[in-house]
This record gives sequence, C-alpha cells and structure tokens, in this order.
Amino acid sequence: MRAVRMTAPGVLEQVEVPTPTPGPGEVLVRVGAVGACHSDLHILDAPPGAFPTPITLGHEIAGTVDTLGDGVTGWSAGERVAVYGIIGCGTCRGCLRGLENQCRTVPLGGIGLSRDGGLAEHVVVPASRLLPVGDLTVTQAAPLTDAGLTPYHAIELARPALRPGTSAVVIGIGGLGHMAVQILAATTAVRIIAVDSNVAALDLATRVGAHHVVPAGPDTVDRIRELVGPAPDGADVVIDCVGVDATLATARGVVATGGRLLLVGLGGGTMPVRPVADEPPTVPLETSVVVPFWGTRAELQEVIALGRAGLLTADVQTFPLDRAPEAYDLLRAGEIHGRAVIVP
Ligand SMILES: [Zn+2]
Ligand SMILES: [Zn+2]
Repeated sequence: MRAVRMTAPGVLEQVEVPTPTPGPGEVLVRVGAVGACHSDLHILDAPPGAFPTPITLGHEIAGTVDTLGDGVTGWSAGERVAVYGIIGCGTCRGCLRGLENQCRTVPLGGIGLSRDGGLAEHVVVPASRLLPVGDLTVTQAAPLTDAGLTPYHAIELARPALRPGTSAVVIGIGGLGHMAVQILAATTAVRIIAVDSNVAALDLATRVGAHHVVPAGPDTVDRIRELVGPAPDGADVVIDCVGVDATLATARGVVATGGRLLLVGLGGGTMPVRPVADEPPTVPLETSVVVPFWGTRAELQEVIALGRAGLLTADVQTFPLDRAPEAYDLLRAGEIHGRAVIVP
C-alpha cells in the first residue's frame, strides 16, 4: 500500500509498504481521510530520536472497518468509524477516570505519533480506539478527532466559566480555532470574539459563529478591551490556539480577574505567571492557566454528536495522498484555511 512516512527526522515522503495485518484485539481500517495537524510539523521538526523513524504520520483519522483481528467483536466490515488517537495504559489513575489524555504511564504518543498513523491506504488500530460516525462523511469525521476534540476538551475544562452573557476570546482561527468558535456557538450563550492576523480566517470565524472579529496587530489588546471592558474585568475565557509569545501576551492582556486561560496551541511561547498583586499583573488574580491536551474518548463521542447534528462542520481543503507533503508545506506557510484533509 502507499503510505506517507517520516523516513528520517524532517523527511516526509510517499513510499510503498506492506499492508499491515491486525493482531489480536486490533482492526485494519481502510483510511478515508486524515487531517493535517500542526503537531505533525512539530514531529517533523523534532530533534533526532524524539520520535521513532520510519513512521507513518497522521493522527486525525476516519475511514471504514476492513478486517477484524482475533477476538474483536461488535464491528463489521464497511462500517464508518473515527479513530481516537491516544492509547493510554488503561490502569493508571488518569486512565481509570477515563482521562487517557492524562495517562501517567505512557509517554506522550499515540496513533501517528509513536506508532504508524493514517497517512496511508490502511492503518491498524486497537478496536477500542474506534467510534462509529454514522452517516458523517469521512472528510468531515476525520477533523473531529483532533481539530474538533482538542478545543472541545479545552472548553469542557472551562465550562463553569462560560456563563451566558460573558465573553470568550479565540485566538488563531485555523484548524482548531474555527472549530472552537463553532463549539462555543453550539454549546454556550457567550459572546465569541475571534482574533487572527489573516482576513480570510476572520471571515471564516464570522461565517461559523463569531460575534466579533479582531485583526491581530499592535493594538489587539486595546481592540478586545473595547469589547470586554477594562481590567479587572475582561474575557472570562481565552482560548489561545497559537501559543507564541505575541498571542500569549494578548491572552493574559484581556483575561478577566478569575478568568481561564486555555493554552491549546503548542507554539512554544512563554507566559510569565508571577504570584504578586502588582499592577499591571502578569496574570490577573484568581486566574487559572491550563495547557489542555487532546481529549477523552467520551468527549470525542460528544464531538461526533455535534458533527452529526450539523452543529460542527470543518472547513476542509482536500488533497490526495501523493500531495500530502505539499499540504504540510502550505500549512507551515499559513496558507491553509480551516483544515487540510488528505484523502488516500
Ligand atoms: Zn493534532
Ligand atoms: Zn494510563
């Protein structure tokens, strides 16, 4: 079968590999669609040894059930599925509570991260990683598994602060950000403020439910403050889907006292947090800062429900498998709007 693999650190190429065989408890999935994620760029850019090579990338997978391994029941060939990418140990305190994204045993990894992923015609996954997606198309289902799930989990963590009439700021309207806006629109009655440096991204934000859009620039904080009011008031929740120094500065510059900062984008920036009552504070008093990671299987089931209800739709740009490297180049250049989805 054809697969797009990281054959050496930083090298992504299409190669021919044997079609894998599912072991006991596993399922061979015919891949229908795979989302291209910024995390894949981090994997490609990581120093040698940080991730195994060669490895088939792709952790945002939907497809159809092909072949069942020994002992697998409850699935039949042709059934349309989404793949939950995390494989926790199943026995630690995190996993026992259903929080496999907080597994305390297995290092950061998963399907397409520490074992072969979905940028191929087929992928083998543990049967327990499959969720049914009903009549959703595979190109719609794939982005739900990360671009949808990650902001959904972040929003779940901040749910008590998302009171009707409060404000939530979403910074970075890319693959995750445009889903965050829709999840807020579908599940809350907050005022949604979207921030991006790109006009097309702000147009997308408006189309999917943002009430206000603010172009990123030197006066971003002032522009948002005009909407949310001066300190110590402000935005109750800020979701930073970028995570570089500039966006983190915007995030802590607009969050309200007692607000929630959700640092979803792994952009490598730094946010100072100093426990003093100086003015202006690095972060306001009573504010919590969280670095959410992906989400839980239960949350993915809920995200799929939002998708099936027509309340969460990824804006997708599709590429055939042999153009996957080009899709990642465009993603790196900031030229993908919504989610790039590769269709093997
Ligand atoms: Zn990802
Ligand atoms: Zn665990």
